[in-house]
Amino acid sequence: MGDQQVKQEYEIAVYGRGGVGKSCLTLQFTLSWFMDEYDPTLEDSYKKSIVIDDQMANLDILDTAGQEDAVCEEENCQPDCRKRRRQHGYIFVYDITDRVSFEEMQPLQESILRHRQRQNISSEDSFPMILVGNKSDLEASRQVFFEEGASLAEQLGCKFVETSAKDKVNVEEIFFDLVRGIRKALPSRPS
Ligand code: GDP
Ligand code: MG
Repeated sequence: MGDQQVKQEYEIAVYGRGGVGKSCLTLQFTLSWFMDEYDPTLEDSYKKSIVIDDQMANLDILDTAGQEDAVCEEENCQPDCRKRRRQHGYIFVYDITDRVSFEEMQPLQESILRHRQRQNISSEDSFPMILVGNKSDLEASRQVFFEEGASLAEQLGCKFVETSAKDKVNVEEIFFDLVRGIRKALPSRPS
């Protein structure tokens, strides 16, 4: 039985272009707090322990500072490089009012898959992720239809949800769904 399963510790990374709301989603989930201003260059991790389906989950959430340095591209990066770490699950966020952020989702997945390959993580290994269209409260400025998000998720092989970090809509759902996906992907615990 893996150590990770015993402790129910899940490392989750939040990716997406600057400004889509990665930090707001993370802070809303971990601290129930919406920030109007948050340093876009800040990368930090947040811990939260929460019961999901009658089981404790200890989440370690890496709020990345943007897609440019989403993964370490160094061939020989050092073992302590935090971007080298294998994540258990991924949250890909775009902003429904920013089409460019939506178009970056697929290349981002490809770049992470390449990165995992370099770390010798088999391509058959599961890749729990969820696609998130944030800022659903800004309907009047919408550039990406709900159906487009849903169809991209189907293509990427993951779930899809639209959220508002501002109004706290579907924020917990992202993390709950992802943890369920990670648990399903892990070999089952002996009973
Ligand atoms: P990050 O660069 O992806 O971490 O983006 P931030 O979380 O810093 O958010 C960027 C900007 O978008 C901030 O001004 C937030 O207040 C705003 N924002 C984030 N989420 C939402 C949301 O759900 N609705 C609205 N209206 N604004 C949001
Ligand atoms: Mg941020």
